Amino acid sequence: MASFRDPAVASAPARPLRRVAVLGATGSIGTATAEVIRHLQSADPDYDWRLWSASGHRNLELLAKIAAEATHCPRSLIASAARAGSPRAMTGFAGTIAHGPEALVTAATDDDVDVVVAAIVGRAGLESTLAAVQSGKRVALANKETLVVAGPIVSQQCRQSGAELLPVDSEHSALFQCIGDRAGDVERLILTASGGPFRTWSRSQMDQATVESALNHPTWDMGAKITIDSATMMNKALEIIEARWLFDVPADRIEVVIHPQSIVHSLVEFCDHSVISQWSPPDMRLPIQYALTYPRRLPGIAKRWDRTRPSSLEMIPADRDRFPALDLGFEVAGCGGTAGAVLNAANEVAVGLFLGGQIRFTEIVPICRKVLESHTFDASPTLSDLVRLDDWAREEARRAGKPN
Ligand code: NAD
Ligand code: MG
Repeated sequence: MASFRDPAVASAPARPLRRVAVLGATGSIGTATAEVIRHLQSADPDYDWRLWSASGHRNLELLAKIAAEATHCPRSLIASAARAGSPRAMTGFAGTIAHGPEALVTAATDDDVDVVVAAIVGRAGLESTLAAVQSGKRVALANKETLVVAGPIVSQQCRQSGAELLPVDSEHSALFQCIGDRAGDVERLILTASGGPFRTWSRSQMDQATVESALNHPTWDMGAKITIDSATMMNKALEIIEARWLFDVPADRIEVVIHPQSIVHSLVEFCDHSVISQWSPPDMRLPIQYALTYPRRLPGIAKRWDRTRPSSLEMIPADRDRFPALDLGFEVAGCGGTAGAVLNAANEVAVGLFLGGQIRFTEIVPICRKVLESHTFDASPTLSDLVRLDDWAREEARRAGKPN
């Protein structure tokens, strides 16, 4: 065994650092990212990976635990909800503790940071993700809402700054892997969807759906908001919009197919009608690791597809009558402009109302449509127009969700 005194070890050159800011470190994607960084510490022969900064919103005990378990003490922790004082959980932390949303932007633009993992849920992740893009970072993007709200602005800023926007969303990571360097030959992007917990439910059954049943996703273990989005299939609607901006492909060349096993993460049809797909068991550590190490592939910790057991993989056409969110996704991806910001804001509020027991499951999507249809569309909004409309759409959705 190599020892401390082994000359080969002693003379091994230090690996260059790869410093990662994980925004939303306490969430489902954030905690998986911390595991991947710990794994890469020993698995990557070329780089020395560090969790450089990490943010949490409310669960600061978990943030402190993530910091304590990191192979190297992170330089900063950000408590985005708290404004003053250090929570007791962080006592003893040797680095900097910062507070408030502006600290997220500071972490995202820190000169020392090489990769920003955008893993905050919802529109709350917009400013820090945009800041990372503007400062030319590699951005591992889980926060799909940023592209839904401001896709054209993000794309333009990537071109200006040279930022690399790499998808963490499993479907988009799959598309990215399948497309490779043949973007010009792509005919269609085909997003797979598990169909969520209500895949086989009738509309009247969905009318009675409880919060508990909607949170019971059959194949993925995720945060509450995206889990409800999966049950309504609004998640797929947001992913259609995400794909439209990420790959610069018009909405009429994007399709959705139901694939209940969540093994095939998406498919690309090329102009010769060859279809290429990416397979792996549902495990977000794979797309996270790929976004960090791209273009390199390294030994991973994600689950391996078990070929010793028979598996059958289904591909079922999506039912847009039972899941009307899909129509919204295609429409909004088709018209761009302010539509994505309005849809996203209305959906975030409607999901919150459902989780709080104030509306029924089947009211979520109609509220989104109502707010979308009552807004004044603008084809080329500025960022401040989008932020203003986000506020307006939230208020409208709250009003629409109130009992008559
Ligand atoms: P989550 O709810 O588990 O975690 C969300 C994180 O955001 C937490 O760290 C929380 O502290 C932080 N946060 C919440 N509100 C905040 C606020 N107002 N300000 C600052 N931080 C705030 O969510 P998740 O499932 O990890 O999802 C994160 C993002 O990744 C979402 O955009 C989701 O759509 C996307 N995504 C998740 C998965 C998955 O498997 N979980 C898969 C694909 C994409
Ligand atoms: Mg996804």
